[in-house]
Amino acid sequence: MGSYSRCAQVSTLGASAAPPEALLRDSCLDLARCYTCVEVCRLARLHSGVLMPATDAILTYPDPRLRRTAEPVEEVTPELRERVQAMFPLMYEAKGIGLAAPQIGWNKRLFVINVTGEKEDELALINPRILEKGGGTWLMEEGCLSLPGIHGKVRREKRIVVEAEDLDGNVLEIECDGLVARCILHEYDHLDGVLFIDRLSPAKKQSLKRKLRALEERAASAVR
Ligand SMILES: [Zn+2]
Repeated sequence: MGSYSRCAQVSTLGASAAPPEALLRDSCLDLARCYTCVEVCRLARLHSGVLMPATDAILTYPDPRLRRTAEPVEEVTPELRERVQAMFPLMYEAKGIGLAAPQIGWNKRLFVINVTGEKEDELALINPRILEKGGGTWLMEEGCLSLPGIHGKVRREKRIVVEAEDLDGNVLEIECDGLVARCILHEYDHLDGVLFIDRLSPAKKQSLKRKLRALEERAASAVR
């Protein structure tokens, strides 16, 4: 999955190159599959004043936008591809292995994951559907970029089969287990407004009350 190769234009530019005016051509957007290109394109347009800075940021609990049911993606457009690709660097910066669109306030049924951090393991799932769950269940400690400092053991199925569209609009069927399956189930929950704290044992939930209250108070003081 996710063969994002560097395109010829970027390879010749290098990271510290001057704003690459050549990349301002419309053809630039066709290169959206190449993450490096997306970044360079964004940079080029920023420098030229064509594009305002991207302001996607990760929302934190108890932002009500994390509790909405996300809407299906109707069409995979170049603009959608570009925004999805931009979720990867945002996720890496936050040291996460998964990021769902609702976490950036984008109410669409899609998410990105990468459990190894290797480029070839990047996975973007659009309009995912869990077709099967099985193999028993297992407990593992989870965290969430929208719940900083909160961790707890969540019981999930070991093995899943998921169907989704990729960034080219092709339908994929993925069978996976272990951490990948867990990560997909966690991100899938976000599309239905479910957070991992909803799946904790009552005792664990109780023990996290103080930390959750702190996040609620921080949010309340930020809006005052
Ligand atoms: Zn999460």
